Amino acid sequence: MTDCIFCKIVKGEIPAKEVARSASAVAFHDLNPQAPVHVLVVPTTHFHNAAATESDDGERVLAATLRLAVRVARELGLADAGYRLVMNVGAQGGQSVAHLHVHVLGGRQMTWPPG
Ligand code: 5GP
Ligand code: ZN
Repeated sequence: MTDCIFCKIVKGEIPAKEVARSASAVAFHDLNPQAPVHVLVVPTTHFHNAAATESDDGERVLAATLRLAVRVARELGLADAGYRLVMNVGAQGGQSVAHLHVHVLGGRQMTWPPG
């Protein structure tokens, strides 16, 4: 999608610190990290957010995105201690970039409830 930051990162048009890539998703460090490890995992095709994935295609994309998130967490050494996966949806959910993404947060104790 034109004018989407994450589509541009996927295509290499905007630089990002990429950590991993699969056939259908890309993982890169968040520009404004909220934890010692803060990686974003995005599908290579544009979906607005999780609410836009209620289709067979969306189901596959969501699963592939989560699969890469779990792989990245393991490869970055978070698996034993644990970590948090977050998907913000819409304005009240705190979503600021309108391209589906999973936050992988780790390296410190997470708290609940989230802010
Ligand atoms: P959201 O608030 O939509 O759940 O998360 C968007 C995330 O994208 C934020 O954590 C923000 O720091 C990150 N972000 C926004 N623009 C860029 C960018 O150009 N590059 C990278 N690496 N992260 C970005
Ligand atoms: Zn996009």
